[in-house]
Formats: sequence, structure tokens, C-alpha cells
Amino acid sequence: MTEKITIAVVGSGYVGLVASVCFAEIGHRVICVDNDESKIAMLRGGEIPIFEEYLPELLERHRNTSIEFTTDLDAATQKAQAIFVAVGTPQSQTGSADLSYVDAVASQIARSITEYKVIVEKSTVPVYTNEWISRVIERNGVPRELFDVTSNPEFLREGTAVVDFLHGDRIVIGVDNERAANLLRKIYEPLTSGEYYQMADSVPGARSEADPPPLLQTSTKAAELIKHASNAFLAMKISFINVVSNICEAAGADVEEVSQGIGSDGRIGPKFLKAGIGYGGSCFPKDVAAFRYVAEQLGVDFGLLREVEKINADQKRRFFQKVRSALWTFRGKKLGILGLAFKGGTDDIRESPAIELISQFLKEGCIVSAYDPAAVERTKEVLPPSGTLSYAKDSYEAATDADALLILTDWREFTDLDLDRLRYTLRYPIVIDGRNLFDRAIMAEKGFTYLSVGRAGGVHAKDALSSRLS
Ligand code: NAD
Repeated sequence: MTEKITIAVVGSGYVGLVASVCFAEIGHRVICVDNDESKIAMLRGGEIPIFEEYLPELLERHRNTSIEFTTDLDAATQKAQAIFVAVGTPQSQTGSADLSYVDAVASQIARSITEYKVIVEKSTVPVYTNEWISRVIERNGVPRELFDVTSNPEFLREGTAVVDFLHGDRIVIGVDNERAANLLRKIYEPLTSGEYYQMADSVPGARSEADPPPLLQTSTKAAELIKHASNAFLAMKISFINVVSNICEAAGADVEEVSQGIGSDGRIGPKFLKAGIGYGGSCFPKDVAAFRYVAEQLGVDFGLLREVEKINADQKRRFFQKVRSALWTFRGKKLGILGLAFKGGTDDIRESPAIELISQFLKEGCIVSAYDPAAVERTKEVLPPSGTLSYAKDSYEAATDADALLILTDWREFTDLDLDRLRYTLRYPIVIDGRNLFDRAIMAEKGFTYLSVGRAGGVHAKDALSSRLS
């Protein structure tokens, strides 16, 4: 039987809440702390502030038994053996990670340490952050032998966060001594031993008793670097395929075929090779910038990451131009927009390319009717409904009488749309797909003018090719 550990998780956002619920699910006692009183009140009442598959069921299963919610970090610190810090680390003006939330939590934790605690960085932080946290805690008068600071980066993806947590590719623990390593290994033992997957009601996923996730034990600094380097690498893959998609458009090839050909190489892999309108979200943009900044501070020129960022910004501009070329003028044109979240499966709109593009269309005088299966409420907070912006209750309402339909998020439900109905709902049957969700031949057969990204036959492909040949 696995030993029950008392864990405090500070921050109840996408990472903190998922980690809290999953730690309870694998048998630990969890105190989830947030300084946002309204969030804690919601969670105590059984409501969930974010949209994630399995989260409602798991919370219901463990609420009032092995998971509690509080704003009292001092009490949580006193009770817990391990304190996971999962607060935000947003981008500062210089591009570096703003660590003020981590700093504030470290100082507050320090005030309540009277016996040995393991502090775990769950937030994505630059290398050396563990040393800063130790310094802050020591400065607050805590003897060095009463705590260890470790790193346990989180690799979950929004939209599949619970499954990713419980069925991860790997669990990384960055530790600089055995005492802390022991505790972290115990916390993850139900997963690494395979015990969790034997349970009748365990969340299904890729891992099993016979194939549990491996635990990688590294130095704290290496663990911090693993997270930044992983995200920078994935962002690089996306930017790479986006440039390839632009070459495909100019050359008259289909990026989907090219991507399949590249991704079938086991050394490269098919994931994150999907051409589109650029990456967004709360992680990639800020983590690429932060990693570039860290490199700079350490005297290393990581110009590659500057290029990754530039390509990502260009990709949104190209899509904007594609819409302009299809519609000629913008003022007074009605756009139906499908997708607001930065990717399908989540309600997160942070750094979403869709939000940026909609703002630009509105500035150009377009009339926008937008729909997203999960992110409408969050979007209303940053783009309130107005005379020129409304939110539809479904895709067909968004498309009604529109001069064109734009697809900006890769929600699976968009691929199930009734194309005949859509065709007659639109004023003009123009679909501009920033996520390559549809088969071009089917769209043509259904009578659409269908433009997508990096696939021959779009206006850009023809234009670019004919201008080169003339
Ligand atoms: P989030 O903004 O959703 O949640 C952060 C939470 O911390 C908020 O609820 C906030 O109220 C709380 N908080 C801030 N200061 C606090 C304090 N002093 N005491 C208690 N609570 C406090 O952020 P997130 O998306 O969960 O990300 C958290 C960290 O995890 C970031 O470093 C992020 O880069 C990293 N990360 C995020 C993801 C992801 O997909 N979102 C994946 C892996 C890693």
C-alpha cells in the first residue's frame, strides 16, 4: 500500500487544480490553496472554474474526503510534508519570467516552517529559481536543514490535463539530496509502480500496470531546464512546419502530405507538425521568451528562439492577409468565427491567436459573430459584446448571413458540422480555415470556396505561383 502524504498545492489554476485533484486521486491528502477567495468559495461549493475533462468527476469523488480548499497558506504549510508551488509565472516586459508570485509564496511559506518541508516548484521557472527560493526562505530566518527546494515540472496540456497528469510520458523530479528525492518518489509511487492503473475506477489512458510512467531523477537545475527546453522545442516544431506550409503554398504542394512524410520519421515524430495560424496559450509564448532571456543572461546567443517568435507572429499576419485577399475590403463585412480558445478542448484564451485576429478584424470595421464550445464567457471579459461583436450559441448561428466563415481553433466538434446546412446558412460560401480541419476535395464538392493553410489551391498558392511564373 502506498503511503499517504499530506500535500499542499499553492495555486488552483489549470496546473494547481489538476495536480491537487490528481494527487487526491492517487491516494494522498491534499490542501489546495489560492489567494483568490472567490475561486476557493466556488471550489468548496463543488463548482469548477476551468473546463477540463474528468475534473468534475474526480473533484466530486474526493471533495470533502481527501481534498480541501483554503486561502490559509500558513495553516496549509504547517500541515503539509510537501508544498507544490503552482502559481503563475507570466512574461515581464523584458521577456523574462515574472517570478513575483513565486517570491511572495516563498516568503509566506517561510513564516510557517517549523519542521522539515519539501518545497516543489511546479510552476515553469527559469534555471536558478530553486536557489532564489532557498535564499528567500533562509532570509526569513528558516534554518537550511528545515527545508529542501526541488523541481517537478508539469507537462500537462490543457484540454487533456487530467489524463496527461495520470498517464504522462515521464515524471521529472529535480532534487539535490536523497531526503527530498525520497518524498517525491513516494508521492508518485502509485503511478510509477503501476498500482493506480489496477484500480477499477482509474482514469483510462495510455499507461497501464505493465507500462507505468518512468521517473527521471535529475539535478534541480536540469529539471528547470528540461521544462523550458521542452516548450521551446515544441514551439520550434510548430514554427518550422508553419514556414514549410508557406513554402507549400508558394510551390503548390499540400503541407498535410509534407507533414505526414516528415512526421513518419521516428526521429522527428508526427506531433506538433500541424500547420496553422501560430501557437498561443499561456505557456509557449512566455516560455520561449523566458528561455531566450535565460540564455542571454548566461551569455548564450539563442537566436533560433527569436526566429521561432518572429515566424509565429508572421503566421497570424499571413492569415489576416489571406482573409483580406478573399474578401477584398473589410468595412461592413460580416465574419462568422468558429473558435476563440487558443486550442481545442480548453476554455483558455490566453495569448489565443483567435482573440488577436478578431480584435484586428473589428478594428478594420468588420462585424463579427463568434462561437466557441467553451471559451465564450472568458472571451466576453476581454472582448465584450458590442454593436459589431456578438456571440453565437452555435456554429450555424455564427455563420448566419456571413460573408465568410473563419475557423480559428481546432475544436473536434467543428469537423462534424453539417456542410450542406452551413453552405446555405452563409451569405457567401467562403470558408477560411486556419486549422486545416476539412478535406479540400469535400469542401469543393459541397460548393465552398475553401482556403486553408499551406495547401495548394488557395488564393495565395495561385497568386504566388502565377506571379512567379509571369
Ligand atoms: P493560472 O493563472 O491558471 O493559476 C495560477 C493560480 O495561482 C491562480 O488561481 C492564482 O489566483 C493563484 N495565485 C497567485 N498568487 C498566489 C498566492 N500568493 N497564493 C495562492 N495562490 C496564488 O496558471 P496555470 O496555467 O495553472 O500555470 C501555473 C504555472 O504552471 C505557470 O508557471 C505555468 O507556466 C505552468 N504550467 C502551465 C501549464 C498550462 O497548460 N496551463 C502547463 C504546464 C506548466
